[in-house]
Amino acid sequence: MRNNKRSSIASERDYKVEKEKSVPVSEYFGENTFNLKVMRKKLPKDTYRKVLEAINEQGVLDIETANIVAHAMKEWAISKGATHFAHWFQPMTGATAEKHDAFIEVIGPGEVIERFSGRQLVQGEPDASSFPSGGIRTTFEARGYTAWDIASPAFIRHNGISTTLCIPTVFISYNGEALDKKTPLLRSCKALSKSAVDMLKLLGVEGVNRVYSTLGPEQEYFLIDASFYHQREDLVLCGRAVQGAPPAKGQELEDQYFGSIKERISSYMHDVEEELFKLGIPAKTRHNEVAPSQFEIAPLFEEANLAVDHNQLVMDTMKLVAKKHRLACLLHEKPFAGVNGSGKHLNWSLADNRGNNLLNPGTTPQDNIQFLVFLIATVRAVYRHADLLRASVAGYSNDFRLGANEAPPAIISVFLGEQLTKILEDIEKGRVTKATDNAIIDLGISTLPILSRDNTDRNRTSPFAFTGNKFEFRAVGSSQSISFPTTVLNTIVAESLDELAAKIKAMKGKNVNQAVFDVIREEIKEIKPILFNGDNYSKEWEKEAARRGLPNAKTTPEALEALVSEKAMNLFSRYGVLTPVELKSRYLIHLERYIKDMEIDVKCLHNLIMGHVVPAAVNYLQKLADALIKSKEILGTGKELSNLEQLMKKVNSGLNKCLELDRAMMEDLSKAESIEDEKEKAFALCRKVKEKMSDLRAYADELETYIPDELWTLPKFWEMLFIS
Ligand code: ADP
Ligand code: MG
Repeated sequence: MRNNKRSSIASERDYKVEKEKSVPVSEYFGENTFNLKVMRKKLPKDTYRKVLEAINEQGVLDIETANIVAHAMKEWAISKGATHFAHWFQPMTGATAEKHDAFIEVIGPGEVIERFSGRQLVQGEPDASSFPSGGIRTTFEARGYTAWDIASPAFIRHNGISTTLCIPTVFISYNGEALDKKTPLLRSCKALSKSAVDMLKLLGVEGVNRVYSTLGPEQEYFLIDASFYHQREDLVLCGRAVQGAPPAKGQELEDQYFGSIKERISSYMHDVEEELFKLGIPAKTRHNEVAPSQFEIAPLFEEANLAVDHNQLVMDTMKLVAKKHRLACLLHEKPFAGVNGSGKHLNWSLADNRGNNLLNPGTTPQDNIQFLVFLIATVRAVYRHADLLRASVAGYSNDFRLGANEAPPAIISVFLGEQLTKILEDIEKGRVTKATDNAIIDLGISTLPILSRDNTDRNRTSPFAFTGNKFEFRAVGSSQSISFPTTVLNTIVAESLDELAAKIKAMKGKNVNQAVFDVIREEIKEIKPILFNGDNYSKEWEKEAARRGLPNAKTTPEALEALVSEKAMNLFSRYGVLTPVELKSRYLIHLERYIKDMEIDVKCLHNLIMGHVVPAAVNYLQKLADALIKSKEILGTGKELSNLEQLMKKVNSGLNKCLELDRAMMEDLSKAESIEDEKEKAFALCRKVKEKMSDLRAYADELETYIPDELWTLPKFWEMLFIS
């Protein structure tokens, strides 16, 4: 039993972290990365040039050059205290992985030197047999290969007293199949670049040789005292509380959002940011979120590949630093039922190699034509592949959030805001027919950035919103890697751009701008069903969306089906992003993950029910029974005791319900577990077991409100959420 539980909460004073230095950020930003600045200093001119070319995909690094880079990298890392190097990669677990090797090489009996070769830098061969591969990598070919991603800087990781040089890599099988999240992302970046450059050429834009997607992920998270965290098996194992009554006061007073940040939290954020700055991650914004103990951190946007790596590092760093502050950082999408969940708004746009944002409405007619093309191409892509976008954010934990009336629904639609919608309507209805200078300027597009930004703030319910000069994909879960959603977005937009280009080219004899304009008009008619500016939480929208034929996959097993459709197979293989085999394997990995996550949740709930809830209820019943018997003895009659009896009955019936539903849940679980077929198993868990879980939880949560605090052995929501 939990004794004196509140004394286990340390006071704020215990955590006052001494500030190590007061150096301006600009002076140490990126100091733990082997970035261009360091390379320029440490590498011979010629080598540096070759590295730059390789980064910009204009050349491949030869082994001599790799040797020189590796040597410089090793010297630099050792000067930072590193003893080991590791290829750092992103297997399909969703987390990152690293295998450490010491820099040592034996040169004689009992004698070593530090050495790091180009070969070791460029390629690694970790045993891959324990990573999910969805059947791609058979056990006899257990090797996986890691290959250096030169575009993402190597970095130093301190962990306790150990220091390691981490080298971002892709992770592939012997046959070159992707076993990770980075490989398809890089392929999608390439595909998008090609399609976008072709489109720009068609529009008459000169001098652009590369287009890349930019990402700014807004990361939400919860912080609770570590002592509470360690008292709850569910938080430790599932990342969420599978049982717990909501606090009497949650977020209804709206006093948390953007509120002043508590000292303990502020110190934590400071420490996190300092680490991130050293890693060259531009952490820009921090604030309190809607729920108590919920916060957000948002870096400035970066090129997709880098932003994805950085988001993984942000999540890692937040967890590590939390330990130092005796906090626990919860990244789960719905750690506490009844209060706001956590997402990761993924801001996405396109930029050319000169840094121009292609979704920025411009000031000249030419800019505006270009803006319209990329805007329509994106909306069109979302319309055609809404199912894939939904699948890209599917996962057991995100199901608790999507469609739960606080996060975007599982229906993907696009919000453009009033002004832009009006402009598209004018084009569609033929009120604007000519792509002449004035007509396009008259559309008012040049004033859009300001207008639509104001506008979008009023609609926080849309899963895919245009916010002035970028799209914001809001259905991504807080714990998810942003790699796959980005891969999907990049690929579907590449396809959309190519298809629009083909249509434009088919309008022979017209001047390009007019051809573009006419194609856009046709497209607007087509893609209209995906546009929705209203309240995405409303019941009416669900009906309306069904009428419009928009997919509404409410759960992960339903959503994942989109990955193995003909349409998806064709799309991803046409763009060289994922082969049908790779796609199928990803489908299986996600399905298996869903099953495992759910099994862990169910078992955890069972353990809490039998280990805490039932014993607490039995204890209380015993006390009530004693009280009743003694009272009857003293008072002689039972009449005045009817309320006490009522209470006893209430607790008893709650206890009964818990026992009954727990048994039913465990029976359904073992039935589901005996199903061979993974898809059927996932559906059985999703349809049957999940319902039992939530019924059981409802009874347990209600019991909690009747059982005395001293008998209740689990930390309660109010204690955990209102951090001292
Ligand atoms: P809000 O909460 O109002 O949506 P934030 O400032 O919290 O805004 O986050 C906005 C995010 O969008 C930041 O990470 C920002 O860098 C990013 N962003 C801004 N412009 C772009 C762009 N062109 N491409 C991608 N992300 C962008
Ligand atoms: Mg924000």
